[in-house]
Amino acid sequence: MIPLQRLPIDNRFQSRLTRASSPILAAPANTDLARERWKRARTVRRDLKSLLEAMAAGLSRCMYCGDNQGTDIDHFTPIAHDPTHTFAWVNHFLACSHCNSNQKRDQYPCDGSGACLLVDPTTEDPNTHLSLTLVTGAYTARTPKGEATIEVFGLQRPILQQGRARAYVRCRSMLRDWLLQSESGDLAEASEVLDSLRIHPFADVLHAMLHRAESPGAPAVFGPEVTTALRRIRGVVLPLAPLP
Ligand SMILES: [Zn+2]
Repeated sequence: MIPLQRLPIDNRFQSRLTRASSPILAAPANTDLARERWKRARTVRRDLKSLLEAMAAGLSRCMYCGDNQGTDIDHFTPIAHDPTHTFAWVNHFLACSHCNSNQKRDQYPCDGSGACLLVDPTTEDPNTHLSLTLVTGAYTARTPKGEATIEVFGLQRPILQQGRARAYVRCRSMLRDWLLQSESGDLAEASEVLDSLRIHPFADVLHAMLHRAESPGAPAVFGPEVTTALRRIRGVVLPLAPLP
C-alpha cells in the first residue's frame, strides 16, 4: 500500500453524485435502497472507475494489494456500515475482486472511540502504520491500525509476499540498468527502463526503496549503484507528493 493523491472532481460530477445520494439520505438506514441505487447507477460507476484508475499506481493496480488489476469500486466505509457514504467520492477505492470480495468485504474495524482502524492511503501515509521487509516481502505492523489493515486486506498472503520479494530483485536489477544506460548516454533505453519501473506492479516495493535510499546506511543495504539510481529518480518514478 502506498500513499495516493485523490483527484479532484468537478462541480458537474459532484452534482451527479449528490443527485444519486439524495434518496439514500432521505432513508439513511436503508442499506437495501443504497445497494439498489448503487447497482442502477451504471454511468456514475463507470465514470468513478475511470477516475480511480487514473489515481491508482501502475496500470490500474488495486489500491490495497498493488498486485492485481483493480476491477471493482470498494466502499471504504461499507454500505452495510453507513449507506449515506455510498456515493461519496472520498469513500471510493479501486480494488481487485480478491481484495474487495474475499478479503475486506463488509469489514470495518473501529477502536474504542469509534475511529476506523483501517489505513486510508489517500489521507495518510501507510508507512506510518506498516513496515515492509524488502527481502521477504512481509509486512509488519507499527501500530494497531497497521495490524488491522494487514489482517483485513490480507496483506500477508503468501502469494503477495513472494511477489514483493521478487519485485525487489527486479527493481534492483532495473535500477542498475537505468544507471548504466544513463551514464553511457543511452537515454532512450534509460527512459524505457524508467517507464517500466513506473508501471511495475507492487509499487509499495519501489516506494519503500525510495524512502530508504535517503538514509545514510542505504549504500550498505542496496549497494552504491542502486542507491545512486534511487536518489536520482526520486520524485520521477512515483509521485511522492505530500498527502492533503
Ligand atoms: Zn487487491
